[in-house]
This record gives sequence, C-alpha cells and structure tokens, in this order.
Amino acid sequence: MTPEKLFHELLGLGLNWEVIESRFDRASGTVFLEIGETARLWESARCPKDTSAVFCYDHTEVLTWRHLNVFQHRCEITCRLPRGKCRQCGHVHRVRPPWEGLSTHFTKEFEAFALLLMREMPMSKVAELVGETDTRLWRMLFRQVAAAYAEADFSNVCCVGVDELSVRKGHEYVSVFADLVRKRVLFATEGKDHAVWLQFVEALEQHNGHRHAITQASMDMSSAYQKGVQETCRNAQVVFDKFHVILNVNKAVDQVRRAEVRLGGAGVWEALHKSQWLWRKNPENLTAAEAARLEKIDRKSLRTAKAYQMRLVLQDIYRSPTASVARRRFRAWCRWVRWVASKQPKNLLRSMVKVADLVEQHLAGILAHWKWGVTNAFMEGLNSVFSATKRKARGYRSTTHLLTMLYFVAGQLRFPQF
Ligand SMILES: [Zn+2]
Repeated sequence: MTPEKLFHELLGLGLNWEVIESRFDRASGTVFLEIGETARLWESARCPKDTSAVFCYDHTEVLTWRHLNVFQHRCEITCRLPRGKCRQCGHVHRVRPPWEGLSTHFTKEFEAFALLLMREMPMSKVAELVGETDTRLWRMLFRQVAAAYAEADFSNVCCVGVDELSVRKGHEYVSVFADLVRKRVLFATEGKDHAVWLQFVEALEQHNGHRHAITQASMDMSSAYQKGVQETCRNAQVVFDKFHVILNVNKAVDQVRRAEVRLGGAGVWEALHKSQWLWRKNPENLTAAEAARLEKIDRKSLRTAKAYQMRLVLQDIYRSPTASVARRRFRAWCRWVRWVASKQPKNLLRSMVKVADLVEQHLAGILAHWKWGVTNAFMEGLNSVFSATKRKARGYRSTTHLLTMLYFVAGQLRFPQF
C-alpha cells in the first residue's frame, strides 16, 4: 500500500476525494497531505440553494487545515477546493470538504481534540500545547458553542436560579440563569437589573421552554430580580435561597467586626485583627489553632462574638423540620437580635438589625426553602464554577469570551464528538 492509499484509508475519504501526495517537510517538522476531489464528487454534488446538479466551475487557492499529529509531527491537509456551479440557477459555491470542522482552519478531528484539552486546562495552555494561536482556538470555541447552544433543549425547565457574578472585582456583573434540576447553566448576560429576566425568557422560549412552566425562581434578596420574575413568570414562586441569606448575615458579622475594631478599646484590636476568616467558618470547620483563638476571643464578650453567635443560630434555624417551626424561630431570632442590639452602646450591632429587617420582609420567600430546598445546592456551586471559568479564560476577559467559556464548562451542551 502506498502512503497515499494508507492516509486515504486513515482519513476515511471514501470515493469522492483522494490523497494526491503525502510528504514530510523536515525543516518545519510537518506532514503535508495534499487532497483533491475525484470525478465521482460531481455525481452526488448538489446546489445548496435548489439541490440541482452542479458541475465543476473552478478551484480556490491552496487552503490548509490543521489535522491531528502524525506521531509527534504536526500534520496539515492542503487542498485546492473545487467550486461548483449549478446547472439550473447558475449559483457558484465552495464545496464543503468532509474533513472541515466548524472553523475553516481545522479539521473535525482536530477540533474535537482541542475541545477535549479545553475541558482540562486554560485556553492559553491549550494554545501552547498544540502550537496554534489562541485567537484561532477561541474562534473555533465560539463556533462550537454557538452550534451546540442552538441545539440545546430547555423544554423541561421548571426550577430556575439566578445569581449575579462579578466579571471584574466590584465593577461589571453578569446574571447567570441555571436549571436547578439538571444542574446546568441556561443563559447568561451582562447586567443585573430586572430586564435580564426578559432576555432570559426569550432565550428559554427559543429553546422549547415556556415562561409559565417556571414554578420556582431562586435568587438573592435584591429587588431587581424579584421585579423581573414577577413581570415575566407569573407561576413562579420566589425562593430566597439559603446560600444568599447566610451570605448576608456573614457580611453583617464582618461589618460588626470592622466597626468594633474602629471603635477600639482594651484588647479589641489584638482580638479581632485579621480575624475575619474565623467568623466566616462554622465551628466544626475550624482548625485547632483557630478554635483556640476563637475560644479566647469569646471570653472577652465582644460584639463581634455576639454577632457570630447570632449567625450560628440563624444557620441552625435551617435545620428546622417544617416551615412553620422555622417561621416561629425566624421571628424569635429577629426579636432577639433587636433586643440585644438595643442594649449595645454606639449601635454596634446595627448591621445585624438590618439583616433582621431583611429576614422579616422576605420571610415568605425564605420559608419557601422548606418546599424547594433540595434544588438549591447548585446555586452555591455556581460561584466556584464561575471562578474556574475565569481561570480557563485567563488573558481574555471580554464578557463574550467569559460567557462562551461558561456555556462550554457548565452548559451541559452536546458537542458532536463527545
Ligand atoms: Zn442552483
């Protein structure tokens, strides 16, 4: 068997194409496979407009597609692609070769391989490994994700969560919508106001979903998302998820700590300096050293320790067996926080009182946790998924790059080769 015949078999070219020449260029370390069409191609070629028969009109310049390596050597397919002309309408078109991927520089097999690498490592690393520019690889990913996303089916989506995630520290935000049952990202867009909901339901309905099929909408307690969901999904029950409620109380504890440090007093600075991580952890997660430090701080009866205790009690309410037990305990918690705060000088616990206000105003949505709780774990995980996405897209922080990578990582899209 000649090398050309061998490559013909390996590439699965069939009857319409043939390997004209295979050669190895020692200087560049590249295997070149020159391919051309056979006369058989024109027997089955059809006009893309009206499917009439076509004849060979002319050929393009020599084009190149990156293919999988041959052993450790770079391999490129070259071809002067034929252009067909329709016998009926006269339309001239470039014949699409069977090896071409979604981008014009890569073969299908090379794209599949690059996608596999992209699952495992940052884009810059993939580019380095395969010896392609990351611009080309990104362009390929855009096309692959766009094609796979167009095929995504949202027809069974009923439990949705939305969260705002920051693209850059403290500046731009994206809103990410997730399917809480199938644990996948459905839609993401810039901004975090109520209008993002309209964009979401449009995307939902383009993919066979329906806005009135949404029965659960999990979110933080910001009013923008609430407004958005009420305007668009009338059957959705708003759920303020546990993760965001605890996030609020954690922030409040930290505000108490900072206010207390500012106020000073004997031993306060020594006790609280660089202690913020201590207060964010649950007691069972503390190391021995941290627990010892906390023990010491506790005895000083600082306001921060009081606030921390309030946080633990609030968290414990989530262990209540039923919503009605929880309702009683949430209300008691709010009364307790206000009463303790009223006894403090300088209103040091005011940020905790704010949380109590928030809890009271949003109690119905918070209690919906007891109906829908199990589905909410994905929202908490979304934060770390998003951080991983940012690492993968490192160096390219345009929102389009980031969101494309997010769909790729967490959209559960079906790529033809996987
Ligand atoms: Zn035609």
